[in-house]
Amino acid sequence: SMDYGNAPEAAGDALAWIVDQGSRFGHFVGGSYQAPGETFETRNPATGEVLAEVTQGSVEDVAAAVKAARRAQADWEGLGGKGRARYLYALARLVQKHARLFAVLETLDNGKPIRESRDIDVPLVARHFYHHAGLAQLLEAEHPGRRAWGVCGQIVPWNFPLLMLAWKVAPALAAGNTVVLKPAEWTSLTALLFADICRQAGLPKGVVNIVTGDGATGAALVEAEVDKVAFTGSTEVGRKIRAATAGRGLGLTLELGGKSPYVVFEDADLDSAVEGLVDAIWFNGGQVCCAGSRLLVQEGVAEAFHAKLRARMDKLRVGDPLDKSVDVGAIVDPEQLSRIRALVDSNAAGETYRAACTIPKGCFYPPTLVAGLTPSDALMQEEIFGPVLVSTTFRTPAEAVALANDTRYGLAASVWSENLNTCLDIAPKLAAGVVWINGSNMFDAAAPFGGVRESGFGREGGPEGLDAYLRPEHAGKALKRIAPFPGKDAEPQ
Ligand code: NAD
Repeated sequence: SMDYGNAPEAAGDALAWIVDQGSRFGHFVGGSYQAPGETFETRNPATGEVLAEVTQGSVEDVAAAVKAARRAQADWEGLGGKGRARYLYALARLVQKHARLFAVLETLDNGKPIRESRDIDVPLVARHFYHHAGLAQLLEAEHPGRRAWGVCGQIVPWNFPLLMLAWKVAPALAAGNTVVLKPAEWTSLTALLFADICRQAGLPKGVVNIVTGDGATGAALVEAEVDKVAFTGSTEVGRKIRAATAGRGLGLTLELGGKSPYVVFEDADLDSAVEGLVDAIWFNGGQVCCAGSRLLVQEGVAEAFHAKLRARMDKLRVGDPLDKSVDVGAIVDPEQLSRIRALVDSNAAGETYRAACTIPKGCFYPPTLVAGLTPSDALMQEEIFGPVLVSTTFRTPAEAVALANDTRYGLAASVWSENLNTCLDIAPKLAAGVVWINGSNMFDAAAPFGGVRESGFGREGGPEGLDAYLRPEHAGKALKRIAPFPGKDAEPQ
């Protein structure tokens, strides 16, 4: 009954996998799927149809998963970097082997275009596991005197469900930690498929545990007996987690929101800069933490640039995310759609342009440009997390820097100019964890990613990202590791 555009068989495989699992999922703990508990529905946002039921994790469920992770940890760390690398390579190869299944399942659950899940998300996931397998092999040589934190509680958002899992799980495992990961409630399915891959890879039981549920389950994980918490999501929740972990001696990394500037100088190649914007703000429908969502364009070319931009917006294809030719898919959930609507509709300032392309009915939002805003307008400051670009103009490079930094966030920035001196002068002045020159949204497992200010702290990817999963061997935590939670772990394994 559903129309799967250009990918009918693949959608069939993904749906068949769900049905094979009984369409109702329990958590994955200690190497096996648990019986489903109290469940909630997860839907395909493009069609509104229910895909499966997923268990709402309780405090007890979380505790059981943490316990399984605790039991597995010493042996996992004891394997050494080379021993763990073999499993990470196996996970990478299995992600590649099942790439199509992962991509289609991600698109069904999240609504992102299949072209993105197939060509970007899933290949980056495999790359992340391969890269961290390599880092694990070198661990003892390159990080002497460091060891794993122990058990990591990891909480991820819905915008890159599997990729954010990979960013969390791969370095944690490479460093010798075991994990309990909670996917976002709208997009749990690829994490549950990943659990299956862990089984196929023969990963020791309890090394990876997946507990599904909403924010309450996440809060329970933060309160549980974990040694490190890694979170990606909103600044609001990040703040709560920081308060909840304060004074407990835990490792903590937070990857939070953004309102990243996209600065176009008058000597930029305007056509390339327009194409770059398509990647910056319409990639994953703008549901990207480092989306180039704030366009700052130099006055002399502002009119010409906006005209080119509007023409390009009109050519974007919005529709069935399983259609290979679609540029912008569905918004992840009707609730997120209402948030985007409310933010844009409450704005009276500037001039709003909606792309003239056809927009399907349902959970879709048109590519939108709100131009002529002033820096203090709410839309210039608030993260929209949807396909909405806001813009204003500047006169001088100094003004561009001031406007770019006029935000409480600091995740990413893009600078466009054909003059490399301009780029190299401006880039270091921007308060951002990453600055792209004549480009946008470029990621690699070897390059650390993360923010400053309210965009969070800590880095994921590269050597810095691995380091965040290690602690000094002789620090206070070592005592806890030798005798972890007496009483609870006293019974035989
Ligand atoms: P969110 O903060 O509402 O949810 C993120 C995750 O936290 C979900 O799994 C959710 O269930 C869980 N959660 C909710 N309340 C919790 C609590 N009190 N304690 C523990 N866990 C809790 O964010 P979202 O709406 O899912 O994602 C959008 C946000 O994530 C945006 O602000 C975006 O910028 C940010 N984000 C940042 C990055 C990054 O790398 N910096 C990447 C992706 C998304």
